[in-house]
Amino acid sequence: MTVIRDSVPDFDLTVPVLVIGAGACGMAAALAARDAGADVVVLEQDRAPFGSTGMSYGGACAADTASEQRLGIADSKEQFLADILAMTSGRTDPALARAIAYEAGPTIDWLADRHDVILEAEPGWTGLGHSAARLHFPADRSGSEFVGMLTGAVERCGVDSLFSARVDALYATPENRVTGVRVRRPDGIEQIGCEKLILATCGFGANAEMVDRYIPELKGAQYYGHEGNRGDGIVWGEALGGTLADMGAYQALGLLSAPECVVVPPTLTIAGGFQVNSAGRRFHNELADVSGQALRVLAQPGAVSWIIYDDRLHQQARDGYAEYRAGEALNPYKSADTPGGLAEATGIAADGLAATMADVAQLKADGGRDTFGRSFADAYQLTPPYFAVRVTGALFHTQGGLQVDAHARVVGAGGRPLPNLYAGGGAARGVSGPGGWGYLPGMGLCAALTLGRLAGDHAARSLGQATELVA
Ligand SMILES: Cc1cc2nc3c(=O)[nH]c(=O)nc-3n(C[C@H](O)[C@H](O)[C@H](O)COP(=O)(O)OP(=O)(O)OC[C@H]3O[C@@H](n4cnc5c(N)ncnc54)[C@H](O)[C@@H]3O)c2cc1C
Repeated sequence: MTVIRDSVPDFDLTVPVLVIGAGACGMAAALAARDAGADVVVLEQDRAPFGSTGMSYGGACAADTASEQRLGIADSKEQFLADILAMTSGRTDPALARAIAYEAGPTIDWLADRHDVILEAEPGWTGLGHSAARLHFPADRSGSEFVGMLTGAVERCGVDSLFSARVDALYATPENRVTGVRVRRPDGIEQIGCEKLILATCGFGANAEMVDRYIPELKGAQYYGHEGNRGDGIVWGEALGGTLADMGAYQALGLLSAPECVVVPPTLTIAGGFQVNSAGRRFHNELADVSGQALRVLAQPGAVSWIIYDDRLHQQARDGYAEYRAGEALNPYKSADTPGGLAEATGIAADGLAATMADVAQLKADGGRDTFGRSFADAYQLTPPYFAVRVTGALFHTQGGLQVDAHARVVGAGGRPLPNLYAGGGAARGVSGPGGWGYLPGMGLCAALTLGRLAGDHAARSLGQATELVA
């Protein structure tokens, strides 16, 4: 991944706004740039858009949306910002956090009103750092459905998308103005010039060398994100003088079924389920943070744990989550009418499991708080038949990257924007603090969509002018 400064090719074509990557960020950026009147080209290395966006549930957090209002969910941008700052213990960029907290809601509404990309608030998704039910999902809670909606919108808008188009080098002036890109296509190499470049290439989860360097605590851990997330945009941005920040930040998840690799919805634990290890013992507050739980699961014997829930929660997950439903074919969900039967079906130690299930039932009856700090005041009491699914921890996506400002412009030394470069989604620094414990559910897509929209809009509005001069 190089930046070439010593030669300027004859570009095959030159476009006003060029976007690399057709995930949530790149497609939101393309839509926003088109809305602002610019001609846009999107380059995607795969044969069709998918990315980590396609692997997700499609759930983005956002506050004060029309959907929340329709459902009577009390929320505000100020409250969202306060939750981000609380979740990260204030160890994030406050200006970026404010931009995301205030612009995420308008982004969700804009996608629905202008582009028919519909995400609806899900009233059952609170906690894990969110003080309001502000996760917004596509109807089937699937990333592939979400990518389908975005792809349709991009096509309707007249954006030119080139697939099987892997960018492997940027061209730039000595002043770090990007002049174009080199693209590897099945039939050869193309050179495309641009006035503004938006990096929407996601993070570096698939790049083991970068993970080892920046997130040593996850060295060797399973990665369960898109294989194209090699950190290309981050490497280019840094070579062009961009500042990197929070490179140790990431979202992991302790809810990946093992060995089937079905992502199990956190609603199982939010509503009243809990996790035990092979001895049948709980080992943490399942609702403390959705990302940090991965390391706690990985620390258990065999690096696995079991989520214990019941038929009602199983049916809710089946009805709501396409991935959970499809996963049934692999038989990961074990069930039995008694704790002893569940122990037999799973191999969990029977005495430990029975004792833990009795303890949790008592905590729920008392509305108490356990020694890990989890409150059971609103938790639903499990009833037979009981269910269990074995899960492990895995890295899902990285949250550190290029420092951007409130217009998603990549900034360098002294906080000064680079001449014509933008970044969003996994390529940019997120607002999840410096490690794996500050991630709010839905923040990956929230940052991808919001920064994508801000980048596309600003890039289009600043055509003909230096990016750094346009407010
Ligand atoms: C299993 C899973 C579940 C998740 N669930 C959620 C969830 O419910 N909610 C949430 O908020 N977040 C979730 N996330 C995280 C979320 O998916 C990401 O934060 C988000 O998709 C990032 O969007 P993006 O556009 O930056 O990246 P992507 O969607 O990965 O798009 C980047 C694109 O860039 C392309 N690309 C990369 N390099 C090049 C290159 N050199 N040339 C051309 N193209 C290139 C890639 O092929 C890819 O298509 C989940 C992640 C995973 C893995």
